[in-house]
Amino acid sequence: MMTSNAEMRQKLIDLRRTFHRHAETGWTEFWTTAKVAGILKDLGYTVSAGQEVIKTEAVMGRPSDEMMAEYVQRALDQGADPDWIKKMDGYTGAMGVLDTGRKGPVVAFRFDMDAVDVSEGQDGSHRPRNEGFASLNDGAMHSCGHDAHTAMGLGLAEILMENRDKLRGVIKLLFQPAEEGVRGGKAMAEKGLLDDVDYFVGAHIGNGLPSGTIAPGIGGFLCTTKFDLVYTGKASHAGAAPQEGRNALLAAASAALAMAGIAPHSDGATRLNVGVLEAGSGRNVIPSRAVMKVETRGSTAKLNSYVYSRAMEIAGGAAAMYGAEFSVAKMGEAVDASSDSELVDLVAEKAVRIPGIVKAGPLMNLGGSEDVSWMMKAVQRRGGKAVYFGLGSDIAAGHHNEYFDIDEEMLLPGTLLFSELAFALAGSK
Ligand SMILES: [Zn+2]
Ligand SMILES: [Zn+2]
Repeated sequence: MMTSNAEMRQKLIDLRRTFHRHAETGWTEFWTTAKVAGILKDLGYTVSAGQEVIKTEAVMGRPSDEMMAEYVQRALDQGADPDWIKKMDGYTGAMGVLDTGRKGPVVAFRFDMDAVDVSEGQDGSHRPRNEGFASLNDGAMHSCGHDAHTAMGLGLAEILMENRDKLRGVIKLLFQPAEEGVRGGKAMAEKGLLDDVDYFVGAHIGNGLPSGTIAPGIGGFLCTTKFDLVYTGKASHAGAAPQEGRNALLAAASAALAMAGIAPHSDGATRLNVGVLEAGSGRNVIPSRAVMKVETRGSTAKLNSYVYSRAMEIAGGAAAMYGAEFSVAKMGEAVDASSDSELVDLVAEKAVRIPGIVKAGPLMNLGGSEDVSWMMKAVQRRGGKAVYFGLGSDIAAGHHNEYFDIDEEMLLPGTLLFSELAFALAGSK
């Protein structure tokens, strides 16, 4: 029996709520990955997970191994399948492959699975709260809609498996960890999962697009680098021996101010933000340590690297001024990307035939960063085509806000659009 649209609609809502409840932030999606992998396996997919889909050397911004043990335990306590957890070997992310056995293209779909570092709103008028599916995990909430992405990916998996006789080639469904902070995309792309892909499709729900509409292609991705800068000085008595200290706080503060003064570039948009500066240990102690969390962006790789290299010069200059040492750790990175017009046109054409989608267009400018760009580039580099589109959904509050919520009525149209794309690109001739 084929799943009816009404059944699929309900299934998608249930799945989305399940993932919403089990919100896990980047690199800690153990419960989520185990659930996804289990469902894909039951459907008949060839499933790989964890280290099989992640190039560990390309991982950025992953919490320490000691903290990971706690997240693994939390997932197990919440009922995650221990076999999958073991197979993942400390890393999250999964891929399901459907090989039709018939000659044809390789088509990949990407769904990100991570939650945001925010605690879910307590107000009873917030639907996840009042209908009992608010996040179980303090400090983690699906306030970007990746719970919806994951649910749609699994809905797509079911539709494609039920209709595998009508497909040719190979379908790859990628469930990516750690999109927030652009930390996970590169590790999946560099694992080589996309090296044989002819067509690549990614999407995001919300983004200011109302329900019933889609943006058939999103461009204007900013290249970005996220890094932590640590200054190490020397502590001493602020009254008795200030001259013996090396002031890490002042080095960091000087760096923050000077970075804000990096000149803009005439070639295009640049950004720099010092989002966090923590320093010092006590009122009467010369501060020996300061930590800064910084990001740079640029509309091209060259512009981003212009801002980044100026920031590094400033970091070094400030360290020298105060006799402090400094170190830099890269915490995330994304490149620019653009959708291929052939696929943009296909998305627009298929979208308007789906009940629940009334308008396709215009193209959208992201004005932010997304690490789907690593995957798009990996496909395009080899001559494949890629598209990243926006799926409209009215939202209860802005992305990353504690009262964010999506319009669940867009889950079915979104899933049907993904499946229509799969049939258009890899349907039997
Ligand atoms: Zn987000
Ligand atoms: Zn997002």
